[in-house]
Amino acid sequence: MPNDIAATDMAESLFEVIDARRDELVALTCELIRFPTINPPGEAYQPCAEFIGRRLQARGFAVQYVRALGAPGDSDNYPRINVIARREGSGAGPCVHFNSHIDVVQTGSGWTVDPFAGVVRDGKVFGRGACDMKGGLAASIIAVEALIDSGARLPGALEISGTVDEESGGYGGVHHLAERGWFSPPKVNHVIIPEPLNVDRVCIGHRGVWWAEIETHGRIAHGSMPFLGDCAVRHMHAVIERFERELYPKLAARRTDMPVVPSGARSSTLNINSIHGGQAEQQGGYPAPCVPDSCRMVIDRRLLIEESIDGVKAEVVELLEQLVRERAGFRYRLRDIFEVIPTMADRNGPVARHTAAAILRVLGRAPEFICSPGTYDQKHIDRVGKLKDCIAYGPGILDLAHQPDEYVVIDDMVASAKVMALAAWSLVNQRA
Ligand SMILES: [Zn+2]
Repeated sequence: MPNDIAATDMAESLFEVIDARRDELVALTCELIRFPTINPPGEAYQPCAEFIGRRLQARGFAVQYVRALGAPGDSDNYPRINVIARREGSGAGPCVHFNSHIDVVQTGSGWTVDPFAGVVRDGKVFGRGACDMKGGLAASIIAVEALIDSGARLPGALEISGTVDEESGGYGGVHHLAERGWFSPPKVNHVIIPEPLNVDRVCIGHRGVWWAEIETHGRIAHGSMPFLGDCAVRHMHAVIERFERELYPKLAARRTDMPVVPSGARSSTLNINSIHGGQAEQQGGYPAPCVPDSCRMVIDRRLLIEESIDGVKAEVVELLEQLVRERAGFRYRLRDIFEVIPTMADRNGPVARHTAAAILRVLGRAPEFICSPGTYDQKHIDRVGKLKDCIAYGPGILDLAHQPDEYVVIDDMVASAKVMALAAWSLVNQRA
């Protein structure tokens, strides 16, 4: 580690370089927003990845494109193209990797600006993905370029990736790369994901998730004589009633030590995502004159690090089995759809510690350590890449993600670029 005076000078000159590139940072963010990388289906991934790759190649990075052949959604029309750029260090320091997803969610309604124009107004950049997370990606690129141009000693390697499909689970993106060793030591040692978690917070992990479908079975009969059939919707009502009476109070009482924000998400939660029962209405809006023989409900259970996924599933199965024993005619089927284990990095680990110190230096206040209520690509880096030293840190405001008129504050992007540059600099100067 350089001595304190040198470190202070270094930080100051780094900040000057970044301040001088404010307009460039804004322009880069706008350019990234102009690729309408909507997922699904995965529009414009290739041109966006190549734009990032060309820029970093010109700055001395070795650039590789990795297509996730066979991943969900991958096709010749919508290829899942990821870009990874690496600049070797001058010595034996550790590698710091900035990972951003390039995909954005659909625009939805309610926009007052063109979502893919990259509109700059009132100190903000507007557009789909401005906050989640092209503003963060642009900040990380400017941070790393400034670091290189500052002439600082950089013994460790620097990497930047633009990956796809985060919004749909990350299987064509970080998961695919992690399975192939792109996110594992010794190649990579520390990862910062510039997701929009607010400029003064360090996000060390996220809750887990279990999506499942419960189907209750009935017996079809004429709607005028329902006593001759068995109504699957009424059986589903019994499931929901059991949830209300037994499961919801239990989940609400279960609190985690994870610093999840907002604090309501420090309990286990269960969302009833959808429910479909009986035959659809016919043309003209007339109902089918039948007793429903099937009702399906999708549940979205978010779990805490103190819970096991098996325990979470067993709790629901136990309620359903109670109904089998107690309710005449009750039959069900449970289908797993998707699951993610909770993950949490050590807040005293290198990447969290050095990022926190950089936030204190840049913003003059100590950061808050938080966890995210929903998941993001850290899960794949942890579980598949076996790399624990990973956090999310970026300039966007969490609440604006996926909203109409999404924006990122330019001052926050500049501040976060300084934080990322300073954190990366101190990390690559640690022992590998
Ligand atoms: Zn995101």
